[in-house]
Amino acid sequence: SLSDRLSGVFDKLRGRGALTEADVRAAMREVRVALLEADVALPVVKDFVDKVTERAIGAEVTRSVTPGQQVVKIVHDALIEMLGGTGEALELGVTPPAVIMMVGLQGSGKTTTTAKIAKRLSEKERKKVMMASLDVNRPAAQEQLRILGEQVNVATLPIIAGQQPVDIARRAMQAAKLQGFDVVLLDTAGRLHVDQALMAEMQAVAATTDPHEILLVVDALTGQDAVNVAQSFAGQVELTGVVLTRLDGDARGGASLSMRAVTGKPIKFAGTGEKLDALDAFDPQRVAGRILGMGDVVSLVERAAETIEAEEAEKLAAKMAKGQFDMNDLRSQLMQMKRMGGMGALMGMLPGMGKMQKQAEAAGVNDKTLARLEAVILSMTPKERVKPEIIAAKRKIRIANGAGTTVQEVNKLLKMHQEMANAMKKIRKMGGMGGLMKMMG
Ligand code: GDP
Ligand code: MG
Repeated sequence: SLSDRLSGVFDKLRGRGALTEADVRAAMREVRVALLEADVALPVVKDFVDKVTERAIGAEVTRSVTPGQQVVKIVHDALIEMLGGTGEALELGVTPPAVIMMVGLQGSGKTTTTAKIAKRLSEKERKKVMMASLDVNRPAAQEQLRILGEQVNVATLPIIAGQQPVDIARRAMQAAKLQGFDVVLLDTAGRLHVDQALMAEMQAVAATTDPHEILLVVDALTGQDAVNVAQSFAGQVELTGVVLTRLDGDARGGASLSMRAVTGKPIKFAGTGEKLDALDAFDPQRVAGRILGMGDVVSLVERAAETIEAEEAEKLAAKMAKGQFDMNDLRSQLMQMKRMGGMGALMGMLPGMGKMQKQAEAAGVNDKTLARLEAVILSMTPKERVKPEIIAAKRKIRIANGAGTTVQEVNKLLKMHQEMANAMKKIRKMGGMGGLMKMMG
């Protein structure tokens, strides 16, 4: 799948110390192939890869994540953008009745989706909803919608044989106004292929009813075809959004990536099954996460970027370069751990960190002790914090009393500091934080 391909790409990057332009370009070649195999349209792939390459090469790597993880984050953000940013809801804040017109090819799932949306609006948003089928091409089409209406407990416009789509639409509008409906859903006829008669019919219905939403229903399984269909519809009517159906099957996900770029319109819903509640609000963040299959890494990078003040990190780096690491530094490290959601959260997110977490736990470090260790540092004098080696027996007792703890605890902290200072020296020899991450990942 697309997700597997992409994580393969990033597995290769993970654990590298520094990210070169060659690394980025090699990874992007594979991203390109992965997207093309997932049926994403070629021009869309090209734009995407160009954008990500530019950002990745210029990117500053946030301290405490690997360059590979940073690239994952950049790809993830670009995917969200490509999928339309934050999800968009239906635009129904109008003087009722709000008119939603459904368009698309035959078999794409229009009628089913009409009923799904009707169910959602009436049950979840307590709207008074009416559906009308304008499909006079297929013999049983209007009857199909009537039955669905009964199943979801939503009114349908009474069927009058022999009426043309525009007449049915006009009748639906009248009935909705008279009977005080909030929403009218118009289910139009499809064709097997996009043709001029279909487009003319759509345009006539749109002119008659002035819809607030025109939703294009597209079958995600049709891959590249879905993109062509979307392009032709977008050129003929003022679409306001797209519904992708059959995302429950083994659709390769490419259609969802192309759709926004090709139509310029947001995907508003995803159909995920034949049942009438199998409709999800389309959530770009979730879909991007699923495509990458690496939600944890992304959130780690985000949190690291939020919590690590660049200045603090710079200062620490400068001290490390000189082989210094005092109690003030230890304290800011402890506070940072706390901000990032405690030891557990941090360790759980980093690949290969399980072992280190066990060691820390064996040493008695957990979220509670983090706070206690901080208290110990706070009851040291400024001089003691900078030169912990002056802390002899008497000072230990004073510090322990001040922090409301034992001398043992003070010793534990001093030992921890010593070990970390030694580790810092080693890291410096290995080539900085990048080297550390390499070792751990
Ligand atoms: P229309 O011709 O565009 O009105 O398409 P229909 O609504 O009649 O749907 C055609 C077939 O697709 C029906 O058997 C539906 O149950 C099925 N269908 C629609 N949406 C979905 C979906 O999201 N997932 C799956 N698995 N089937 C769907
Ligand atoms: Mg239909």
